[in-house]
Amino acid sequence: MIPFNFKYYRPENIDEASNIFNELLEEGMDVIIYSGGTEIVTNSRKHLIHPDAVIDIKAIPEVMAQEDNGKELIFGAGLSITDICKMDLFPLLSEMSSKIADKTVRNQLTLGGNICGRLPYREAIVPFLMGNTIAVIATTEGLKEVALKDVFKFRLPLAKGEFLVQLKIDKDILERSYKTIRKEKVTDVDYPIIHMALTENKGSLSLGVAGLLAFPFCNDGVNEILNKDLSVDEKTNEVIENLPSAIKNDILASKEYRGHLFKTSLKELLNGMGGQ
Ligand SMILES: Cc1cc2nc3c(=O)[nH]c(=O)nc-3n(C[C@H](O)[C@H](O)[C@H](O)COP(=O)(O)OP(=O)(O)OC[C@H]3O[C@@H](n4cnc5c(N)ncnc54)[C@H](O)[C@@H]3O)c2cc1C
Repeated sequence: MIPFNFKYYRPENIDEASNIFNELLEEGMDVIIYSGGTEIVTNSRKHLIHPDAVIDIKAIPEVMAQEDNGKELIFGAGLSITDICKMDLFPLLSEMSSKIADKTVRNQLTLGGNICGRLPYREAIVPFLMGNTIAVIATTEGLKEVALKDVFKFRLPLAKGEFLVQLKIDKDILERSYKTIRKEKVTDVDYPIIHMALTENKGSLSLGVAGLLAFPFCNDGVNEILNKDLSVDEKTNEVIENLPSAIKNDILASKEYRGHLFKTSLKELLNGMGGQ
């Protein structure tokens, strides 16, 4: 239960949602999008957030879409992780998402919440960063489409009144083979110290990682190193020296331990993909 009063809206289309969002913002209200609600309810109970109004987007058909249109795989932001894993249109996404939280939470927790929420892990975004993905965003002027890789830095930047509607990824991602490794501190139902995926297609390798840095990444410079004619040890050492940011140091693991886990896991993934 949320221990304060707030207004609840459940629009049935994108225009209605954007209009409500805009009007409430103009009235000076603190408004947030409500998706699975797991983070909102927890943070409200702890009095960390205090929204005047929430807009539940799960009655909007585009937000709940999950389909293969022949060219792209389309995932609505309101799909629960369980919905995504059950339909399994994108096996790498199903595999990485299926490690988030536990089954009860995954029934509720959504793709959009995982990507736009406050917690930094955002494991479900890694497979999308590894492919050619378009983020469909509802703005006060209508829908806009942006290349995820161009806009995602620490998070998906959303202006006031905007919300994520869908992610669309080119189907060529399905031609890649992949391996993943997730390391937790105590049990597998925990936030990841690191969660990594290595994909391969026609000899070309690509790495996606959550947990290691302050943000999930799939970095062109790192992928260039992985595709050089080097030994597994040389590649691993060079990647560690060329990460896009500093390794995280937090309650789950020191930066030294996290770096060590990353190094051994990367070697394991590279060896699993055939080494050189
Ligand atoms: C028990 C528990 C365990 C967890 N374990 C993991 C884990 O192992 N790995 C991991 O990566 N994450 C984990 N998380 C974090 C989780 O992914 C985020 O908290 C996520 O925000 C929850 O999704 P939700 O749909 O419930 O979001 P909500 O609570 O509905 O929303 C969270 C925030 O995201 C915003 N938001 C939601 N959808 C949209 C949208 N479409 N557009 C714009 N803004 C939006 C909301 O306004 C709100 O600010 C865990 C969370 C919980 C509660």
